[in-house]
Amino acid sequence: MIRFTISRLIFILSLSMPLEPTIPVVLDTLATADDLRHVSAGQFLRSLTDLEYTELRKEQTNGLQQDATRFKCPMCNCSIYVRSSKNGLRHFAHPKGKGENCPWRSESGDDLREIDSTRFANKQESRAHKQLKNLLVEILKTDAAYREVSIEKVISKNGFWRKPDVCCINQHGEVIAFDIQLSTTHMRYIVERENFYKVNGIRYVWIAGSDETTLERQAFKDIYMSNDGQILSINGICSQQAKDNNIAHFCLFSLRPYFNGNSISCRWEKAIINREQINWGRPGDIPYCWSIPSFDDAMKNAVDIRGFGYLRSNLFEAVSKGDDVSAQDAWDQMATRVGGLKWNQLPEGAPTKCIGSILSVALNKKHVVCNFADDDILQIANTILLEGKNRRGWTHLFETVAMAVDSYVLNAATCQRKIERNKKTEDDLMQKIGPVFDAFFHWGAMRRLSR
Ligand SMILES: [Zn+2]
Repeated sequence: MIRFTISRLIFILSLSMPLEPTIPVVLDTLATADDLRHVSAGQFLRSLTDLEYTELRKEQTNGLQQDATRFKCPMCNCSIYVRSSKNGLRHFAHPKGKGENCPWRSESGDDLREIDSTRFANKQESRAHKQLKNLLVEILKTDAAYREVSIEKVISKNGFWRKPDVCCINQHGEVIAFDIQLSTTHMRYIVERENFYKVNGIRYVWIAGSDETTLERQAFKDIYMSNDGQILSINGICSQQAKDNNIAHFCLFSLRPYFNGNSISCRWEKAIINREQINWGRPGDIPYCWSIPSFDDAMKNAVDIRGFGYLRSNLFEAVSKGDDVSAQDAWDQMATRVGGLKWNQLPEGAPTKCIGSILSVALNKKHVVCNFADDDILQIANTILLEGKNRRGWTHLFETVAMAVDSYVLNAATCQRKIERNKKTEDDLMQKIGPVFDAFFHWGAMRRLSR
């Protein structure tokens, strides 16, 4: 019965999209239940935050080589990848040479090699690339901590090789590789390079051009969304500072939350930092700047600086006591200040309990009225939040908070199954709740960035 419905659905969808052939429905190979295997592609891709979208793009691209992507084309059972069209529409597509006879194969633009061969077609970009390479070499050479600074030196490991734009050896004798990130570099190359350096224990740094207006492009997003909103760049000031102080300087672009009138928004902040402000991690890591707060902490600060922190305390105290009236009061006051759904617009599944359950996960201690033990967060999540039908809209929000605090509940199979089920079948509150949630729950704010 289910199969019949799905094939009808696929048929109807394929008829309704004759102009631009894309893949309207995809097969989720990880789904545990039959009725979860077919996923509406557009709806699913739209529901992802920028970070989740980047992660999915990486995951799908990674799976292409072994023809083992999580999501496949249900028509030809072929591995597919994810990309954005010129007007920003997210969609799945067949790679070159795969699914040649598939009715859902689009006719143009599937050739990854073609895309990257256009890399230097634009002479201006090629010149900018060369200038940045030279500037980076200049900066690294001022610093006694770095030696053997070279341009396009081949690094070969275990039969594979890469040629980073610039590389050098640090004071501990370890290699650091740098690539200049161009707005046209394709996801496949980003993933391949990051994997190569990670597997071979080499620190890897992307350097963007100095023009922040280009950072909205997907190629940059694919990098900074998985690095807490950070991306390094270089400019003449970095070079001057490096020469004056004999220590390498970089320009840090970081995505920062701030109050925009009566709402929360994000903007780029630019800071000149030196190499000591960078956590270089272990070999194989992608370095990041430690001297600024994480995006999530910056979200909390943005709320506190405006003097709204007391509303957070009020809400948390109210949900812990099961006091609906005070909870509603705190919530609505915050919603008035930052925007978002009001209390009476929330689903009728006892919001006090839902918010209390999410808070319990965030703080790893019971903050909701119930009979479970103080530390039995898994039962609280499973029974109070994830089970009730009219509470399932909170699932996506619950998951991002749990991921941000690295909660153990996410490892429980029972919890995973309910999350998968709820995310696919219910209305998603994350898409519509607005900044009011971020103002109360800074945990996971980076992951919720683009709702
Ligand atoms: Zn296909």
